[in-house]
Amino acid sequence: MGKFDGWDMKAILRKKAERKRVLDERKKKRPPTSGAYTRMCDALFMPQFRGKPCERCYDLSGKVNMSGTVGHHIILKSQSLFLRWSKRNICVLCPADHFEAHNPSPKKVSEFMDWFKAYRPEDWEYLEANEHTKPAMKSRDYFENMKNMRKQSYC
Ligand SMILES: [Zn+2]
Repeated sequence: MGKFDGWDMKAILRKKAERKRVLDERKKKRPPTSGAYTRMCDALFMPQFRGKPCERCYDLSGKVNMSGTVGHHIILKSQSLFLRWSKRNICVLCPADHFEAHNPSPKKVSEFMDWFKAYRPEDWEYLEANEHTKPAMKSRDYFENMKNMRKQSYC
């Protein structure tokens, strides 16, 4: 009988499975990182804007264009955790207008921004005033809040 006969193999596999189970258990117990909470917040926050009418199409041509629309962050989400989950910082855009908002040409981007500032002046004022505001909560707390708001028919 060799070292790896049937019985030994079974014992080895059993040990391996047990070790994997212990590691999985440990992983489950470890709390999510703040980066993970940030992504979980995005996952709760962003879908509400999908498929809503493009604000720019509607303003510029009265067209209700809901095809492929998404929420665009006016102040980049990487730039402000405080504004990342604020509806005032979100503009619903169709793919073509979303491209304009991220156009490689700075002139195009500034045209887009001029449009936004004229279309939602109060929101722009709020965004400008809070661009550098530090978030009062950690992403974990944002997540707990969002989860609770959802229960009260948030969105
Ligand atoms: Zn559009």
